[in-house]
Amino acid sequence: MVVGAGPAGLLCAHVLAAYADKVTVVERDRLPQTPVSRPGVPHDRHPHVLLEAGLDALESLLPGTVRELRSVGTPWLGLPTDLLQWQNGGWSSRLPATTGIHTGSRAQLEWLIRRRVLTHASVSVVEGEVTGLLGDKGRINGVTLRRSGVRGASRMHDVSHIEADLVIDTSGRTSKAPGWLRAIGVEPAGEDVVDTGLAYASRLYRSPQGRGPGSAPGCYLIPGPGQPTGALVLPQECGGYVVALSGVRGHEPPVDHTAFLAFARQLPHPLVHEWLSTAEPSSPVFGFRHTANARRRYENSQVPAGFLAVGDALCTFNPVYGQGVAAAALAAVALRDTLRGAEGRLDHQRIRRALARVYEQPWAISAGADKQMPGAVGNAAAPNAAERFLGLYLRRIQRRAAHDPQIGRVFRSVLALTKPLYSLLAPPMLLAALRPEPALLAEPPSAPRQP
Ligand SMILES: Cc1cc2nc3c(=O)[nH]c(=O)nc-3n(C[C@H](O)[C@H](O)[C@H](O)COP(=O)(O)OP(=O)(O)OC[C@H]3O[C@@H](n4cnc5c(N)ncnc54)[C@H](O)[C@@H]3O)c2cc1C
Repeated sequence: MVVGAGPAGLLCAHVLAAYADKVTVVERDRLPQTPVSRPGVPHDRHPHVLLEAGLDALESLLPGTVRELRSVGTPWLGLPTDLLQWQNGGWSSRLPATTGIHTGSRAQLEWLIRRRVLTHASVSVVEGEVTGLLGDKGRINGVTLRRSGVRGASRMHDVSHIEADLVIDTSGRTSKAPGWLRAIGVEPAGEDVVDTGLAYASRLYRSPQGRGPGSAPGCYLIPGPGQPTGALVLPQECGGYVVALSGVRGHEPPVDHTAFLAFARQLPHPLVHEWLSTAEPSSPVFGFRHTANARRRYENSQVPAGFLAVGDALCTFNPVYGQGVAAAALAAVALRDTLRGAEGRLDHQRIRRALARVYEQPWAISAGADKQMPGAVGNAAAPNAAERFLGLYLRRIQRRAAHDPQIGRVFRSVLALTKPLYSLLAPPMLLAALRPEPALLAEPPSAPRQP
């Protein structure tokens, strides 16, 4: 069984359906029949990009996903061509695209996945909130749950349990699994945390001109060590735009309309504020805090058989790097391949190690960059000497990647999780880091630069 019907839970259920007679997904929300936001995932109001590796993983798990995304009008932005990017005090060149992102709403993406996964005859959804684990130090064999409903005039809470050979915690970044494990006498896994205190405030807009800032499809003012605030404008499947303002601790964006615009005026470049002044809001402003990078080291712990964690319940990232859904899909692929390699036998430790490997690169990108941010806190926030040196090196690469097609291609592939991190240390990259810094573009480039 899986706890939670987000992308990680659904994709794990899909993988398990190949091996189990019965797969139960327990979800605290009543799942909607249409692609709309739901209360259990307040982050679905905020922009969600799907990185190339995530799309490949989804396509490998659920062939035809790309076609379906296109058929419902999910926008695809070629990078860097279609996304104006401002970082380190200047704009990046709009070089020919070497990768891309889907920018449709999270609700749409989840709904497409859900529709496909729930066609399995063996997969069923139980509405209820998991409250604990059944089992002991040797083995987990189910969950306790609370089901709510209205009977007559009163609201009822039934407490019941479900037995299972395997419980996968996919209950997201607020997972209570460490407490559930402690309650049955199991020492939970160690946790690494790096937290910049970044907060989001997001709102939907319509553009009378039908174009994003600077007439580009999308725009991203990227926060960084010298820039505590940021903004992201992305097209949605409905023809509108989702706009997220962000700021690290002490620079959090507000959630009321007037202050939202005032915050946008303070951004390091006026482009987004100018565009917002002509665009029409079509939703309230939604806030989100608690964006820490946090990973639970189940692969190094004495967690009993019968328990795994996948998705944000295992490892969650600062959302500015756009990695969470891609990592969840890659983790489901790792689960599938490990089960396949063992002919369906559950080798928990092997699976936990395979899952930990999936999260290694996105963690290095997200937590690694956040360690360089002033004011980052958490037990893993202090960079060691090697990480400080790597941070300096990567900043040099990043500045060159903004204007150099070859360096940019490798850099973007690593961020898209389609190339390993060590590609950044290949000789051409090392040589590029030694070259003088390219001149900054003070104004957004209006048209893609041809090679
Ligand atoms: C502001 C913001 C922006 C983001 N932007 C991006 C982005 O651009 N690209 C990207 O890839 N990722 C992004 N992410 C991350 C992405 O949303 C997560 O990585 C992704 O949702 C993880 O999926 P999940 O299935 O692990 O968890 P979730 O999507 O959180 O799903 C967990 C599910 O478990 C259910 N649940 C929780 N507790 C219980 C319980 N006790 N019993 C039963 N059900 C329970 C919840 O209702 C929910 O349905 C962003 C996150 C945030 C916060």
